[in-house]
Amino acid sequence: MSCIDEDGPAPLAFHRDGLSLPAVAGAYVLLLDMARGLSVVLPGRAPVRLPSGRYLYCGSARGPGGIAARVRRHMRRDKPVRWHVDRLTTQGSVAGVWVVPDGDECALVRALSGLPVPVPGFGSSDCRDCDSHLLAWPAGQALPAAFRAGP
Ligand SMILES: [Zn+2]
Repeated sequence: MSCIDEDGPAPLAFHRDGLSLPAVAGAYVLLLDMARGLSVVLPGRAPVRLPSGRYLYCGSARGPGGIAARVRRHMRRDKPVRWHVDRLTTQGSVAGVWVVPDGDECALVRALSGLPVPVPGFGSSDCRDCDSHLLAWPAGQALPAAFRAGP
């Protein structure tokens, strides 16, 4: 019997809301829908104008409640702005999330490396490997096969 999967890698689970997210450690890719553009200023860098559109943010959750707790926080708009991505989740909306129990956020960034980096340094202050943990998802551009369970 063949073990070859003709359709490529198994799809990552995609959730449109926070109801059935796994409460385990791992990584995730937030799908952000920015109805309006905004200006992003990171310390020591020139402001970058982010146009309206779709963005993907790769993160990880290792604390209590795991992916579920972290993503539910991202989905709440009323919260103190603590991380770079909070600027986006308080002004735009989270349209869904791919989750990877035991996953690694930087591996997700690598998997999505065909997408543009709109703000170098965004979300990756602690990371030596990635230019950014935020990627733009231009209209009409396909995501890799592993993301096919998405919208
Ligand atoms: Zn990284």
